[in-house]
Amino acid sequence: MIKIRSGVGYDIHRLVPGAGLMLGGVRTSGNLQAEAHSDGDVLIHSLIDALLGAMGGPDIGELFPDSDPAYKGIAGAELLRRVKAMLAARNFEIMNLDCVVVAEAPKIAPIKAEIAEKLAAILGIPREDVNVKGKSKEKLDAVGRGEAIECFSIAMIRYKNPSVSASDIESKT
Ligand SMILES: [Zn+2]
Repeated sequence: MIKIRSGVGYDIHRLVPGAGLMLGGVRTSGNLQAEAHSDGDVLIHSLIDALLGAMGGPDIGELFPDSDPAYKGIAGAELLRRVKAMLAARNFEIMNLDCVVVAEAPKIAPIKAEIAEKLAAILGIPREDVNVKGKSKEKLDAVGRGEAIECFSIAMIRYKNPSVSASDIESKT
């Protein structure tokens, strides 16, 4: 029996003057950065919460508390690698991921393919299973005023049959 689970994630960071944002493990150009204890990668943080939600918790704040100096300045990509290992340890595999970055700047369209490729590479999944979209907030609220960036993500994961080991699969191919 194939067990399929989904999870939703959300994150928001305040934007401050700086040398560029980290988005999905990619440094964007521009003169803004996210205010954060970590590297402030809003996309990866929302994606991690979606994946953890699909697994059945904990959430990102419980797993990687920002009160812990071990996570000061830590790269989103590194946190995502740890979540990937958690998925594997629990015998889950990713089916697909979809993300919506909401921001006035930077524009997501020119960099979304690069971000999706980076996320696929970090997670070791096919590029076509990762989708990234950009959205403006139509000048509304703090995000619309360019004071913050937010991201919504959804993850679909599948429980692999524990009786079939990776070596079984390899021996048949
Ligand atoms: Zn965050």
